Amino acid sequence: MKRFTHLDATSLEEAVSLLNDSTGPAYVIAGGSDLMGCLKDNLWMEAPERIINLKTIPGLTDITVEDNALHIGALVTLTEVAESETVKKNWPGLAEAARRTASPLLRNMGTIAGNICQENRCWYYRYPDKIGGRIDCVRKGGKRCLAVPGDHRFHSIFGAVKKCIAVNPSDTAPALVALNATVLTTKRSIAIDDFFSAENGAQSTILDRDEIVTEIVVPRPATGPTNAFRKIAYRKSIDFALVNCAASLDIADGVITGARICLNAVHNLPRRCEASEALLIGKELTEALAQEAGKAAVAEAKPLLQNGYKVQMAQTIVGDTLMDCINQPS
Ligand SMILES: Cc1cc2nc3c(=O)[nH]c(=O)nc-3n(C[C@H](O)[C@H](O)[C@H](O)COP(=O)(O)OP(=O)(O)OC[C@H]3O[C@@H](n4cnc5c(N)ncnc54)[C@H](O)[C@@H]3O)c2cc1C
Ligand code: SF4
Repeated sequence: MKRFTHLDATSLEEAVSLLNDSTGPAYVIAGGSDLMGCLKDNLWMEAPERIINLKTIPGLTDITVEDNALHIGALVTLTEVAESETVKKNWPGLAEAARRTASPLLRNMGTIAGNICQENRCWYYRYPDKIGGRIDCVRKGGKRCLAVPGDHRFHSIFGAVKKCIAVNPSDTAPALVALNATVLTTKRSIAIDDFFSAENGAQSTILDRDEIVTEIVVPRPATGPTNAFRKIAYRKSIDFALVNCAASLDIADGVITGARICLNAVHNLPRRCEASEALLIGKELTEALAQEAGKAAVAEAKPLLQNGYKVQMAQTIVGDTLMDCINQPS
């Protein structure tokens, strides 16, 4: 690991000023479960000069309900989200997404903000410099993408962004998209649909380098807790999703009046399934309709040589997640 200065910020203002004052690249650290791996493997072309610790800033660790919305502080851990009775009651899709993330130890360390800001897991991108040298691919500012001609079995089935076919790996991201959350930062309020980006090199979001997530606000579902999350991974614990999905439905008198569905791990960004959503409006949810919505979700898929299997997974998981919305475990 390259040497860096570790600084404990005592306020958001101080953290922003430490980021701005850095003469070289600087990163904030929350739980460190993603960032430490990046640092140890010396992933980036420019090593960070400063790491600014957010955990020493008070006031970012609460889950509250105010103004008919759930407010989750940036430093709330995934365990706290998964185990919160408040979250489980009205936002079960989000609680389940947090519960299915990583392992118990990682959920105890990992924060909700870190989860949506984590970098992609493409194995070429993550290749450690100590084993034969770092791979400087397009996403890191290099010239080549190694996954397209190489091993892309876990990569995008919906094409590339700036030649990169890595997928967004977050489990809570699709749940927050389905629940139409808003991300509050030290600079602005960002609708979750606009938050993710693969256009900014290594990072997975539109955040400026001196911008810090402070809170995530999730509106109370309009007609009740009809939201759900599912994940397909090799193992039940630790593994990143091959495909995951979250859905949230508004249902009045048995008829769907609003729908948001999001797949993840299938593209550089969490992917809203707008064609599937449109199919549902004004109808009663049945198994057949849910399956039709699954088909619509993958109608535009363009799998590569080795990842066609993910198309079937994505189609199935959309249908199953929709049925979970109305068949919640009691
Ligand atoms: C073995 C293993 C398995 C994993 N499995 C999963 C999985 O199944 N699903 C999944 O979704 N994730 C998984 N992860 C990834 C990771 O653990 C989680 O995403 C975790 O939530 C990251 O949170 P953190 O607080 O530790 O982030 P950190 O590592 O502290 O930060 C991650 C990134 O976010 C930035 N950041 C952190 N907080 C803020 C903030 N408030 N504002 C702006 N930027 C911020 C950091 O600068 C860094 O770039 C796994 C990780 C490992 C090591
Ligand atoms: S898919 Fe993206 S992250 Fe992976 S090697 Fe290609 S450019 Fe790099």
